[in-house]
Amino acid sequence: MSDINELYQQVILDHNKKPRNFKVLDTANRRQEGYNPLCGDQLVLYLEMDGDVIKDVSFQGQGCAISKASASMMTAMVKGKTAAEAEVIFDEFHRMVKGEMDPATEPHHLGRLTILAGVREFPARVKCASLSWHTLHAALAGQDEPVSTE
Ligand code: ZN
Repeated sequence: MSDINELYQQVILDHNKKPRNFKVLDTANRRQEGYNPLCGDQLVLYLEMDGDVIKDVSFQGQGCAISKASASMMTAMVKGKTAAEAEVIFDEFHRMVKGEMDPATEPHHLGRLTILAGVREFPARVKCASLSWHTLHAALAGQDEPVSTE
């Protein structure tokens, strides 16, 4: 367990220091805002959709290390995927961080995202980890209003 905790911390720190796809996306055709008032996390997600495919994705914003690392990992994961594939991963990720799905024993498509399974031990952090995913979900659904985790 200590190895997993160490890996978890390393990955969070790495993504927090050097977030992937952290920029305004000039070619975006969808923009979605998300807030987690509980922690103060806020982000803007940019998507360039090519039909049903997420051709490019980026984010900007500020928040705690977990929200930023999770958003960074989310963008890296869904780039190039179809909206339907991204929704499957969103559902699996959401169930994992809420402790409803154990990635060690159940089939999933989460890849390196399983490192974030550790947040299920910290209920207050679940919303930090899932904010970017809820925001993606709303963007794919074409929702106009900002997303709030509350
Ligand atoms: Zn947070």
